[in-house]
Amino acid sequence: MIKRRLTPVVEVGRIKIGGGNPMVIQSMTNTDTSDIDSTVSQVLALYEAGAQVVRMTVNDEDAAKAVPEIAEKLKKINGDDIPALVGDFHFNGNVLLKKVPECAEVLDKYRINPGNADDQNFREMVEIAIKHNKPVRIGVNGGSLDQKVLDNLMDLNAKSPEPLSADDIFVKSMVKSALNSARLAEQYGLPKEKIIVSAKISEVNQVIAAYSQIAEASDYTLHLGLTEAGSGLQGVISSSVTLGVLLHQNIGDTIRVSLTPSKKVPRTEEVEVCKHILQSLDLTRYRPKVTSCPGCGRTTSTFFQELAVRVNNLIDEKLTTWKEIYPGVEDLKIAVMGCVVNGPGESRNSDIAISLPGKMEKAQAPVYIEGELVKWLKGDNIEDEFVTMLEDYIKQRFETQSFASTAKRII
Ligand code: SF4
Repeated sequence: MIKRRLTPVVEVGRIKIGGGNPMVIQSMTNTDTSDIDSTVSQVLALYEAGAQVVRMTVNDEDAAKAVPEIAEKLKKINGDDIPALVGDFHFNGNVLLKKVPECAEVLDKYRINPGNADDQNFREMVEIAIKHNKPVRIGVNGGSLDQKVLDNLMDLNAKSPEPLSADDIFVKSMVKSALNSARLAEQYGLPKEKIIVSAKISEVNQVIAAYSQIAEASDYTLHLGLTEAGSGLQGVISSSVTLGVLLHQNIGDTIRVSLTPSKKVPRTEEVEVCKHILQSLDLTRYRPKVTSCPGCGRTTSTFFQELAVRVNNLIDEKLTTWKEIYPGVEDLKIAVMGCVVNGPGESRNSDIAISLPGKMEKAQAPVYIEGELVKWLKGDNIEDEFVTMLEDYIKQRFETQSFASTAKRII
């Protein structure tokens, strides 16, 4: 089990980030913020998918004016059951926050990119955050790194007898920019409990190095992410590797996966990826875990693959209902294995499991429940029978649990 690094607790609306609180998933809308209906609908979609914090770009006066209306609409639809809202500010954040104080008030956090905010802009945004009692993310990005910091470190490096590589200097500049800006915000009066730091780069090794250095040099609450991760498998894998390595080192309090959207992939995909990353590290459980083997020359058909898909589809279809009536169902472990080589071993480590017959094995499938062999399934209905056994097991186990906890409460 990963032991969480202790950082200050930053309250973003009703969401607590850091201090060992459960990892928080964030996302960002890609609608035009001034298109209120589209933005409201995407914020809700991201929230329903599992994002507890949702950021919107606030790039002009129309967007700033739309923010309070978006918040009001969200409340009208869902009451308090809405995500924390964050405004993403760059070159003109101070101007917009001063011009539209309702926007400054209704947001739960401001993101400031020090590379895109001059000294006056930065200071004024921090002062406005202090006035409205809001936390700030100091979000440094490799694509907009403060050039002065980079030039300065490059000059020093050139004079060094053992100069570092350009990559190392870039990472050091990111770290320096993030830490200097966070410390400057503290000097302006923003307490550490109102500061979250991020240093996003598009190169996996550089992001890991940057966050490791920040974590080594400070105890700021950290927002992790690989920026511009790309699309499809590339984006998912690069983000998973980056976040996996950092989270495994106890670094990070909140995460975002930034995927390039496509027509086929909904925006909520990035939230799903976050959930899979956290679940794979056992940091949070969102759905029952299905262990299934890759198959090999011992498997005679694609039967076990189809059963694994069917079990996963069943979970997707029923999870919302199951979570309501069977509390704790997300902790369930299921195994669907292709033969008896590794089948019984995996079965014993699962709550309910089946091993389909492999080549040269008898046409029967052992089903294990809580480590005990309970039945051999045979014939043409193995798939249906296993699914029925699975649903019965979930009902018996989690209904009993919910009954027990209800009974305890009554006693
Ligand atoms: S469990 Fe059996 S079928 Fe699956 S990969 Fe291992 S040996 Fe192959």
